[in-house]
Amino acid sequence: MDFSDFADRAAGIEAEEADLDTVDLVADLLENAGDDLGAASRFVQGRIVPAHDDTTLDVGPALCYAALAKADGPNVSASDIEAELADTGEIGAVAEGLRLGGQRGLSAFGEGEKNAGSRSVGDVEATLRGVATASGSGSRDVKLDTLFGLFSGSEPTEARFLARLVLGEMRIGVGEGTVRDAIAEAFDVPSSAVERALQVSNDCGLVARTAREAGLDGIEGIRLRVGRPVQAMLAQTGTALEALESWGEAVVETKFDGVRIQAHYDGETVWLFSRNVEEVTGSLPEVADAVAGALDVPAILDGEAVAVEDDGTPRPFQEVLRRFRRKHGVEAAREDVAVEFHAFDCLHADGEDLLDAPLERRGERLEGIAGDLAVERALSEEPDAIAAIEAEALEAGHEGIVLKNPAGPYTPGDRGRNWLKRKPDVETLDLVVTGAEWGEGRRANRFGTFLLSVRTEEEYEPIGKVATGITDAKLRSLHERLEPHVRSETGTAVAIEPAVVFEVGYEEIQRSPTYASGYALRFPRFVGVREDRSPADADTLGRVKRLYGSAAGAETANGGKGGGGDPA
Ligand code: AMP
Repeated sequence: MDFSDFADRAAGIEAEEADLDTVDLVADLLENAGDDLGAASRFVQGRIVPAHDDTTLDVGPALCYAALAKADGPNVSASDIEAELADTGEIGAVAEGLRLGGQRGLSAFGEGEKNAGSRSVGDVEATLRGVATASGSGSRDVKLDTLFGLFSGSEPTEARFLARLVLGEMRIGVGEGTVRDAIAEAFDVPSSAVERALQVSNDCGLVARTAREAGLDGIEGIRLRVGRPVQAMLAQTGTALEALESWGEAVVETKFDGVRIQAHYDGETVWLFSRNVEEVTGSLPEVADAVAGALDVPAILDGEAVAVEDDGTPRPFQEVLRRFRRKHGVEAAREDVAVEFHAFDCLHADGEDLLDAPLERRGERLEGIAGDLAVERALSEEPDAIAAIEAEALEAGHEGIVLKNPAGPYTPGDRGRNWLKRKPDVETLDLVVTGAEWGEGRRANRFGTFLLSVRTEEEYEPIGKVATGITDAKLRSLHERLEPHVRSETGTAVAIEPAVVFEVGYEEIQRSPTYASGYALRFPRFVGVREDRSPADADTLGRVKRLYGSAAGAETANGGKGGGGDPA
C-alpha cells in the first residue's frame, strides 16, 4: 500500500465521527493493505512496532522539528517549526503546511528515499526501524538524515501523518478495539476470536495477516511464544463466601503488594514484562537471575515482584516502584531496594501451553518447574481456614489474599470472576467477649474460640463466635487477658464476664435462631481488641438490625443476591 494512500485514508478516518463507520473505514484500509497489512494495522493506531516489541524510535520533538525544517529548505529553522506549533497546537498540521516538495513533484534530496507516491507503508516502516536502531555517537545525525529523507518529497497529507507517527501522536481515534473489530470485519472472522488472539500475541499485525491468510482456524491456532508477552489475567473484588458458593472450594494465595511481572525463559534468555506488556528485564536483574536459576525448562511464569527487607519481610509497594522501569543506576538502586519474585501462575512449561488448563494443573506445573519461586497455596472449602490464611498473610505484612477458582483457565486480559481479591471489610462491629472454648491441638492449653455478644438494653446477647484471624502470639495474650474474667466452666466451654471488646469483621449478617440475639455473623474475623472501649460502648443489637436491614435493602436494589464484585 502506498503511504500516500494510507495517509489519505487516515485523514478520512480522522474526519469520521461515528465509531461504526470508523470500523468500516479501517476494515477497508486493512483489506487494501496488501503486503503491508501488518504495518498498516499498527500505523492506524500510531504504533510502529508490535505492542510487545520494546523498540523505540528515540526521537524527541527537537530532532523531529529539525528534520522537518531541513526538509522544507534553508529558510526554515527548527524554532520556526516550534513557533508554528505554538500557534496551531498540532505537529501534523504544521508538517502539512510545509513545502516539502511532494505537491510539486520535486525529487527528494536525501539519500535513498523515494518520490511521493512511490513509497509504501512497508518502506516507511523499514525507514523508521532504521531510525530506531541508530545508536551511539553520531546517531543523532543519522536519525536526522533519515528523517529528513522521509519528510522530503512528502505530499502534505503524508507529511501530516508521518510527523504524527514519528512523535507517537497519531490520534485519529483508532485504538485496539477498533482494529480488533476491523480485522473481524475485513477477514470475516468473529471479533471474540480476534480479541483472544490479540491477548495471546499482543501483535495485531500477526493477527491480521493470519486472519486474512488462514481465517478462524488460523487465529485460533495462534499460540504463546516464549519471549512474547501475553496480556495479564486480572482479578475482581469478591468475598470468600462468594468464592465458595461459586466453586465449592477455592485456591487461596497471598496477595503480594508489588508489581506484576511476567517472566519468560527460553532455556537461555530471560525476559521480564510489566502488566502493560512493556519489557522491564533491565531494571530487575535479580528477578531475571532468580528465574534463570530456578528454571531448567522453557517457561512463561506470571507473578509479582515485591520489595523486601534484608530479612525477607515485604516493603511497601512504593519501594518496588523505585526499581521499576529504571534504565540507569540499576545497580545503585538495587543496593537500596532488594526485590523478590513470587510466581503464582504458569502459562507455558517445556513446550506445553497451559492457558486453557485448569488452575490446579497450572499450579502443579508451576511447583514442578519453579521450585521456591512458586507461591504457597492452599485449597480450602472452609471459610474459617481461609480467614486464618488471610490473617497470617496480613500479619506477615502482605496485602491480603486472592481466591482463585481451581478449575478456571488463564484468561489473558480478562477481569473475570475466576480470581477474586478479597474485599476489605466495609463495616466492623465492636462486640463483647462473653465466653470462650478451649483450643485444640497445639492450642489446647488456651482459649481458641470466642463467643461474641451485642449490647441490648440491660445485657449482652450472643451473635456469633470468632476463631480466626488470630495469631498464636495474640491468642496467648488474649488468654491472659480473659482468664481472670472466667465465671464458670462446662466441658470445653467457659462463660466470661463482659470485660473485653473485640473489633470483628464479617461478610454478612444473617437472621439466625442459633444465637439469642436472633442474628449471626457469616465469616467473622478478629480484627483487634478495642482497648479504647468498655463493654458499655460496644455495638448494640439496634445497630446490627440496621446493618442487616440496609444490606437486605441493597441486595434488593441490586436485583438479588450475589450482585457481583466491583469491577475496579
Ligand atoms: P489489584 O491491583 O488490586 O487489581 O489486584 C490485582 C493484582 O494483585 C494483580 O494484578 C497482581 O499484580 C497482584 N497480585 C498479588 N498477588 C497475587 C496473586 N497471588 N495472584 C494474583 N494476583 C496477585
